[in-house]
Amino acid sequence: MNQTPLSESPRWEVHKFGGAAVKDAWGFQNAAALMNQRGNVQRLVVVSAIGKSTSALEQVVREAWEGRRAAALAALEPVLAAHQRIASELGLTDDRETQAGLEREFNAMALAIEEVPGPDFDRFYDRIVHRGEVLSSVLAAGAFRKAGLAVRWHDSRQMIHTDNTHREARVDWALTEMQIREQLPFAQAAVHVVQGFIGSGEDGHPVTLGLEGSDFTAAIFAKALQAASVTLWKNVAGVFSADPAHFPDAERLPQLSYLEVFQMANYGAKVIHPKTMGPLESAGIPLLVRSFLDPSEPGTDIGTQDPAGGYPPIRVRLEGLLLISLHLSDLSYLGERHVAHVFSVFRRFRTKAYLTEIGLMNLSVAVAVEPERQAGLLQVLGEMFRVKYNENLFLLTVRHDREHAASHWIGTGALYLEQRNRQTMQCLYKAGQ
Ligand code: ASP
Ligand code: MG
Repeated sequence: MNQTPLSESPRWEVHKFGGAAVKDAWGFQNAAALMNQRGNVQRLVVVSAIGKSTSALEQVVREAWEGRRAAALAALEPVLAAHQRIASELGLTDDRETQAGLEREFNAMALAIEEVPGPDFDRFYDRIVHRGEVLSSVLAAGAFRKAGLAVRWHDSRQMIHTDNTHREARVDWALTEMQIREQLPFAQAAVHVVQGFIGSGEDGHPVTLGLEGSDFTAAIFAKALQAASVTLWKNVAGVFSADPAHFPDAERLPQLSYLEVFQMANYGAKVIHPKTMGPLESAGIPLLVRSFLDPSEPGTDIGTQDPAGGYPPIRVRLEGLLLISLHLSDLSYLGERHVAHVFSVFRRFRTKAYLTEIGLMNLSVAVAVEPERQAGLLQVLGEMFRVKYNENLFLLTVRHDREHAASHWIGTGALYLEQRNRQTMQCLYKAGQ
């Protein structure tokens, strides 16, 4: 038998390149250079749709859904042109595989636009939008081949299995892990290209995992493969203690725990998708954030440990929240039945609750809900409660700072709700003038 002993089997590394990392031909070439390392390693590369093409495809969906086919096709045109331009700059104009891949995806989108969309908007959205990741992966495979790498292209839709919750699909872990292990060969070292953000629902239709979901995809593959690490290649030098665009004193955090990042991501730091941390923590896989612009920068390492010296104050801000205040009108106590009802209504309207205050007769919750669902949500809640609400609020979360009151951070803003425990201060406010 000519079997490789287990100890010599290549180990897996997972690398994720987001839209900003693959927005042009240089981005793909740079990714190829970063993956061009020797060693007995299987590299799994997760790519997002190029640049801002996901939003461009969302526009295509809106036009098609409203029955404006010509406008939908016109909106698709620049997306097509951007991919063709990158392909040509990569020297892939005559590459049969690349051209066949791009053509196949564009035909599928054109067909979806021509057909009557069907009754389910979210399903139609997924049918078109998920192809941004497929297109990008076709370019990545072509670019990597051009750079002389041993490349295998795989289809995430064959491996990531979910329920039918379109646009926010929930992973069927048992099936997904089995499929990943079955379909990804563990033989000679290579670079394996897959798509972030996408999968297949129960009936085999394409789904997406929620915006910015490619980080989560990287974690899913890493967990199934027991990978040695996940690296997120970003246009910043790591995770910062605040958004440098809003807080000039923000500093790079060299080391963070999964829990710390989970909190930051959940409360509005755009840097990593919050769903990424759970699978990595459970499998104990280190998450590395690195700059694709300067890979020699130290970046941020995320794992089980907090840094020995503790953390500096960490601030994150989330915008566009809705504060819903619910009152019982009949002088009865607010009980478990009411709270359970409210949260089941949230689930139905895909509403995420961030900050909750429960009083004797009233419940206040700061939520994020899509604008199209807001009216329906408030109406259904109105069947049980008297409802008041405030829109366009900010939620500021400050961790590891016990010195300052909310007013220190929000200046002339108007405070609506504040909560504080040993590590965390959170306040909901309306921005000042
Ligand atoms: N392309 C998707 C988005 O823009 C997924 C991702 O980038 O992670 O949201
Ligand atoms: Mg993206």
